[in-house]
Amino acid sequence: VPVIVAVDGPSGTGKSSTSRAVAVKLGLSYLDTGAQYRAITWWMLKHGVDVRDASAVAAAADRPEIVSGTDPVDPTITVDGADAAGPIRTQEVTDAVSAVSAVPGVRARITELQRAIAAGAPTGIVVEGRDIGTTVLPDADVKIFLTASPEARAARRGGELKAAGGGQGVDLDATREALLKRDAADSGRKTSPLRKADDAVEVDTTELALDQVVECVVTLIEE
Ligand code: C5P
Repeated sequence: VPVIVAVDGPSGTGKSSTSRAVAVKLGLSYLDTGAQYRAITWWMLKHGVDVRDASAVAAAADRPEIVSGTDPVDPTITVDGADAAGPIRTQEVTDAVSAVSAVPGVRARITELQRAIAAGAPTGIVVEGRDIGTTVLPDADVKIFLTASPEARAARRGGELKAAGGGQGVDLDATREALLKRDAADSGRKTSPLRKADDAVEVDTTELALDQVVECVVTLIEE
């Protein structure tokens, strides 16, 4: 029977790297739900929808066609047929995504996509996000909640930004402040807040290397 794994937690805890490596190791599909929220946000910005206007965002929520490729070696995302992998990582999208993803109509739309993808995964899937274990897939076989200190998370995010920007200087204090602000927005919303499910296993990755976290999650799945 297909195995469903939910990996939740704030950004900078190693969710994506861990989830992809676990999926590769166990021959499972992989879904980055943050990429879907970023994709719908990118579409809103591109189509001139005011992202602070929740009713305008809700009215447009069903319009973009969002398709996620679930190969953990090469996850892809397209919006209306166009490759969105690059544009969804811009600062503009990152700054707007919490507001767009707080709109109930957006969450309903994306949650439906996520459930369909999970149900269609032949061997099972690792789904990473904020509300997977609590809301999207409450019956998941294994639920992981990753945490890390703000400093460790800022350092990881800073490393990603540096790699993306070709080694430019990154202000770690500003990165940490931005992360904490986005966490607060993600945690404070009424629909699907960022929260550990009661039956999730919490793994603090602050002092762990990626392969140690992967090993730990694989063990929990195989138990
Ligand atoms: O994981 P990532 O940082 O790319 O997620 C971007 C944003 O998408 C989060 O800050 C959050 O606002 C939203 N998100 C969400 N629910 C999820 C995954 C992401 O609301 N399951």
